[in-house]
Amino acid sequence: MKLATIKNIHRELNNDLFNNALSIPRIHAMRNRWIYAYCADDNGESAMGFNLRLIPRGWLCVYALVYHEMCHQYELEILGGSDTWEHGKNFRRVYRDFNKRNFPLYFERV
Ligand SMILES: [Zn+2]
Repeated sequence: MKLATIKNIHRELNNDLFNNALSIPRIHAMRNRWIYAYCADDNGESAMGFNLRLIPRGWLCVYALVYHEMCHQYELEILGGSDTWEHGKNFRRVYRDFNKRNFPLYFERV
């Protein structure tokens, strides 16, 4: 899995599902053994990290993972939330409302 692929998926989903409401985040590769991905505010700019080695194989998983982080990004940028480690009511509502592709919901460590 290449970082450029993740960026392309983000652009595609932003256009198709979010009407390009989200910014283009700073996306970087992570290396560790315990987390697949994250999205956070970094001094007013959205940042995402993806563990290119840990990402499960299969396009559905990759798309669902990027979509998951984009829902956190939506919380940050549109709803003004700050704690993207939570998967509370707002996260679940965003995930459901924009999920026109019926992605499965992964919670663990993403
Ligand atoms: Zn999450």
